[in-house]
Amino acid sequence: MAPDWASRCASGRISLNPDLVRAPTGCIDYVITHELIHLIHPHHGLAFYDLLQTLMPDWRSRKQRLERLLS
Ligand SMILES: [Zn+2]
Repeated sequence: MAPDWASRCASGRISLNPDLVRAPTGCIDYVITHELIHLIHPHHGLAFYDLLQTLMPDWRSRKQRLERLLS
């Protein structure tokens, strides 16, 4: 099972998994972008992925790299 790379509390505060320090900067950027989009779109719906794709067109490769490195 993949670890949670970040979490958000009700106030909007984002906490990052400390293991992320071992990840490349591009992967950390992906996690932060993902969590920031959740402030607008709480669920992984079409609008969430549309915005993610617009802001970070290579998000899939960043996510796959992160999962390979830290799983
Ligand atoms: Zn998410």
